[in-house]
Amino acid sequence: MPTLTSPLQNNKPRIGIIGGGIAGSTIAIKLSALGLKVSLLEQGPSLVNGPPICHLHAGGNLYREIDDEQCLTLLRQSIATLKLYKDSADYRPTVIAIPKRDPGEIDQLLPRLEKLRKEYAALVDQDSSNQVLGKPMDYYTLYHRQDVERLAKLAPVNTPTHCDEWLIPVAKSLDLDKLKFPLVLVQEYGLSVFRLAASATLALDNCKSCNVHTDTQVIDISRSDSVWQVTAKQNGEPLDFSFDYLINACGYQSGSIDDLIGQHSQRLVEFKAAYVTHWHNDTQIWPEVIIYGERGTPNGMAQLTPYPGGYFQIHGMTQDITLFDQGLVKNCDDSAQPKLAPRFLNKLNRAWPQALIEQRTDSAIAFVSEFLPDFSSATLGGKPLFGAQQIPGQDPDLRAADICFSQANYARCEIVKASSAIDAAHAIVNQLIRINLLDASAIKNVNSKQLGLNEQAIETLAIKLAQQRNYPIELATRLTCDN
Ligand SMILES: Cc1cc2nc3c(=O)[nH]c(=O)nc-3n(C[C@H](O)[C@H](O)[C@H](O)COP(=O)(O)OP(=O)(O)OC[C@H]3O[C@@H](n4cnc5c(N)ncnc54)[C@H](O)[C@@H]3O)c2cc1C
Repeated sequence: MPTLTSPLQNNKPRIGIIGGGIAGSTIAIKLSALGLKVSLLEQGPSLVNGPPICHLHAGGNLYREIDDEQCLTLLRQSIATLKLYKDSADYRPTVIAIPKRDPGEIDQLLPRLEKLRKEYAALVDQDSSNQVLGKPMDYYTLYHRQDVERLAKLAPVNTPTHCDEWLIPVAKSLDLDKLKFPLVLVQEYGLSVFRLAASATLALDNCKSCNVHTDTQVIDISRSDSVWQVTAKQNGEPLDFSFDYLINACGYQSGSIDDLIGQHSQRLVEFKAAYVTHWHNDTQIWPEVIIYGERGTPNGMAQLTPYPGGYFQIHGMTQDITLFDQGLVKNCDDSAQPKLAPRFLNKLNRAWPQALIEQRTDSAIAFVSEFLPDFSSATLGGKPLFGAQQIPGQDPDLRAADICFSQANYARCEIVKASSAIDAAHAIVNQLIRINLLDASAIKNVNSKQLGLNEQAIETLAIKLAQQRNYPIELATRLTCDN
């Protein structure tokens, strides 16, 4: 990879980040904490306003198809995410079940779960502040049919603290005859995209060396004398910036920035959606529930994500729920940007037709009800959470990815899961040191305490963002027994 010699001696380099999703915002937090001069340019009205984020993949256990190395990476990255964005998580476990119709067996999952448990224990031994997923010995727990039947007879607990207590509402509702045993309860938690957005916004408000420009769309980029000249449109008016180092964190639109600078690259883009439902019958505090299945078939995975106040979000990995016919596209030789069909761009940029929202949400409720029969009384709870997601390269199963340095003083960040944003930021810091734009002595760790954030302020802003984006405020509030 070519590097430019820094023309800067005493002056701080000007870092431009295009895209204020979780990747761009996290990189901005990390770089401005090191005293670098950062400008974050986001075309939308607020930060972290892209595709949904609801699950912290602390071990990648939703994905049977990925290799152990990616799972271990996701585990390490999720621990770092909880340390930075502590108040954005919902601290509830995930229950995983294999249906009888599925060819898989729990025995096939156990070696990997054990590897993850050992890795978590080693990370906690290295640094006790890594213990953010409970005790390592409790990373996962197995429940045989007789255990589940025993728990089904117990009264639900308002403030579950033990794994058994978390399982009670699920044990009472699951159709056990449709499942293989044991079930797995694993310490993969929830993430609220609204509290992530609020945390990033408040953290950057506190950073003197970062300027956040929302409603600012980058439309042209050129390079002169090793300096990036970036033209943006802000409220219809052109605005020019000069940067010494440029970071492309444009999510599924990263390819359009590559096109502006004449950089060819390969990527996939996938349009997906999750559905917001309300289940009047249930005000208990739930874990997340995963029913495994083969992605893209009518028996794809079902994911039921709990929020306060009886709200549940559903992913169903079938073509008529979360996935879409031709929703996964790759780029062509003449452009780095994959082209989604107009029907997806209309959904991304305008509203969904109401009939489609109702049809897909009903399908999602019916899909979950097959295993949780009482859930059939759930109703539409809000508009879908949706978006397009980038996957660098050509492998649609890639889940742990972060950064690519393909030109001098240019980084393209392409994360697939939110937790990879911190590794992307660290890789950029190391690169800035390598090319003499940052002194290694400036390095320091930033955790949630140093961001100076307050749990209540995060929740208040998160609720405001949920209202602005027309979602129920329960999606922004903490999942606690008080809700
Ligand atoms: C249905 C669905 C469910 C998901 N669930 C999860 C989950 O549970 N857990 C998880 O970890 N991940 C999940 N993901 C993936 C996750 O949403 C993405 O990995 C993550 O949002 C990517 O963050 P990002 O910052 O790279 O991109 P984005 O969030 O897309 O941010 C890119 C930003 O760049 C801005 N931008 C683009 N072009 C320009 C321009 N020219 N000028 C200025 N700004 C520009 C955009 O407005 C946007 O705000 C899900 C994705 C989908 C689609």
